[in-house]
Amino acid sequence: MNHSENFFSQAQKVIPGGVNSPVRAFNGVGGTPVFIDRAEGAYIFDADGKQYIDYVGSWGPMILGHNHPAILSAVLKTAEKGLSFGAPTPLEIDLAELVCQLVPSIEMVRMVSSGTEATMSAIRLTRGYTKRDKIIKFEGCYHGHSDSLLVKAGSGALTLGQPSSPGVPADFAKHTLTCEYNNIESVKQTFEQYPDDIACVIIEPVAGNMNCIPPKAGFLQQLRELCDQYGALLIIDEVMTGFRVALGGAQQYYGVTPDLTTLGKVIGGGMPVGAFGGKKEIMQYIAPTGPVYQAGTLSGNPIAMAAGLACLTELKKAGNEQRLAEQTEKLALGLKALADKHGIPFVVNYVGGMFGIFFTDQPEVSSYQQVMKCDAEKFKQFFHKMLEQGVYLAPSAYEAGFMSLAHSDEDIERTLQAADKAFAEMKTA
Ligand code: PMP
Repeated sequence: MNHSENFFSQAQKVIPGGVNSPVRAFNGVGGTPVFIDRAEGAYIFDADGKQYIDYVGSWGPMILGHNHPAILSAVLKTAEKGLSFGAPTPLEIDLAELVCQLVPSIEMVRMVSSGTEATMSAIRLTRGYTKRDKIIKFEGCYHGHSDSLLVKAGSGALTLGQPSSPGVPADFAKHTLTCEYNNIESVKQTFEQYPDDIACVIIEPVAGNMNCIPPKAGFLQQLRELCDQYGALLIIDEVMTGFRVALGGAQQYYGVTPDLTTLGKVIGGGMPVGAFGGKKEIMQYIAPTGPVYQAGTLSGNPIAMAAGLACLTELKKAGNEQRLAEQTEKLALGLKALADKHGIPFVVNYVGGMFGIFFTDQPEVSSYQQVMKCDAEKFKQFFHKMLEQGVYLAPSAYEAGFMSLAHSDEDIERTLQAADKAFAEMKTA
């Protein structure tokens, strides 16, 4: 038994499934999860000291790479002054101003402690503001695990084959209407059916929780138009895409303006943070200025704010956005070329610093249905062959891959060499 195996059997006795978040348990790929000891730059090191090139990056926030010196020093310096006050600090203003500057559709922002809280609170706000109950989400999109949003969800829910969860009352779930991603007709029909009842549409602007599915040209704009036509609000959930698909988020990349944006992960640079923000008039509808209640003891936590500030300040430096996209493209095109060389049917999607790989002979993968037709068994084989060679991919065929600025050309080359070997073995298996 190696250390990870030991830890896993110990953990299973006191933690359900041995993990504090389901996908970490490797249910989607089988085998023992790798227990992490430390991380640095593009690498994570497991409890046995083995190094992996990491394409999970804590599921997104590590855009600068792990343990970036600017973030680490901001965290240490701030921690010396106290860990939490439950009272306002100037750091919160600095981060709010920076977020508003980077994402122009955000005029005001409220900090929370996770992406789940961000989307849950944003949904409540749209319901309170519009005085409507129903919401539209898309099949395969994941927006955290609040009751309204755990209906036909992606990510771990999809990996475990439970896209809708017991424990969500049917009376509650009936207000969540689901449409097909990249199928505007399905949204039109839903609005026609409930013209006066829909408070908001929430969408991942690049779906990253059913692998990686970019929006079709014009899809997000058409959503915007439908929302305007029916008096519904548009929430763009940039928990994954924010500062990653582009510095101003996927909304900047695709040129669409939401009413509200939800953010997470990245704005904490690895600390627990989320946020939601948008039009002033709507944001002022939350407490204490408005009637919609929302709160949090640890919201705007000083260490998380300092980490987020350091992270975004580094990220916005010239050239970073472009480099992140270039490194992602290098990896994506490299993988596709190798799969082609070995005659393995393969599709790769990528945008900004996100990518997704699919084992399939379909010409493209741009819908939930197409994702479900991909060969999850082949993915499992590939995942384990890469893991053995020290490349850590997301342990599920339904999760996106994440590039960081710490990934060097050499790291990408090493990854491609591993993939070359993996594909060769898969062909002969
Ligand atoms: N929205 C999106 C798009 C996400 O990808 C996630 C988590 N991966 C969430 C919301 C929920 O964030 P958290 O896990 O921080 O609650």
